[in-house]
Amino acid sequence: MVHFVGAGPGAADLITVRGQRLLEEADVVVYAGSLVNPQLLESCKEGCEIHNSAYMTLEEVIEVIAGAEKKGRKVVRLHTGDPSIYGAVKEQMDVLEREGISYDVCPGVSSFCGAAAALKAEYTLPDISQSVLITRMAGRTKVPEKESIRDLAAHQATMVIFLSTGMLRKLQRELEAGGYPEDTPAAVVYKATWQDEKVCRCTVGSLAETAEAEGITKTALIIVGRFLDSEYRRSKLYDPAFTTEFRKGSK
Ligand code: SAH
Repeated sequence: MVHFVGAGPGAADLITVRGQRLLEEADVVVYAGSLVNPQLLESCKEGCEIHNSAYMTLEEVIEVIAGAEKKGRKVVRLHTGDPSIYGAVKEQMDVLEREGISYDVCPGVSSFCGAAAALKAEYTLPDISQSVLITRMAGRTKVPEKESIRDLAAHQATMVIFLSTGMLRKLQRELEAGGYPEDTPAAVVYKATWQDEKVCRCTVGSLAETAEAEGITKTALIIVGRFLDSEYRRSKLYDPAFTTEFRKGSK
């Protein structure tokens, strides 16, 4: 049996109890090294064989997990957050399926939940939005045309945008072109639940400059929607566009 396990968003104690147990029992672990907290590996038993998939191709991952399973070893494939969100798990499952290897999935806390916790926010507020759109900008991985940020923005629903921190100027333009007023509340949440987590509240119109000012270029979620200001409205005093006695604004 191969277990696909969600590692959670960052903090090592945010893996599920089941995920933790599977990790403790595993003979072989292949973890997504780019984002899985290495502290989690400290709970692996002595002699557990550990591989970092950041350096591996799909074929190499399969060779390790299928090879170990065939020898009767307990295998954990550890993915960041929840495996179902941008996890590239389906392609692994399909190969295992073809090879007749059984597998199961242990869910994890996705980073979009970690980000809501960091923001102390509720994505689905009555009268504001009852839908959460999880999406991304097109990059080297394409996004179907009818799911463009511009089209999705027309719904004015809560949006959580993954994998797009390097494209914030363009993201901002797309959100605005789709109908979000410039002053729509937004946030850049960097490394939610990690020790060096940063939560930067801003507006759609100041997303890019906010991330730039904080030096955030990756491992962040962009979160957009009116749900962010029903309880909280950012001050003018720290608004990047606002000039004060001590600081010149950007506009
Ligand atoms: N399966 C993961 C997402 C993998 S895609 C999940 O459920 O969270 C990787 C992207 O997720 C990153 O580029 C970033 O946009 C986001 N991400 C992952 N962990 C994050 C965290 N702790 N804080 C903010 N964003 C995170």
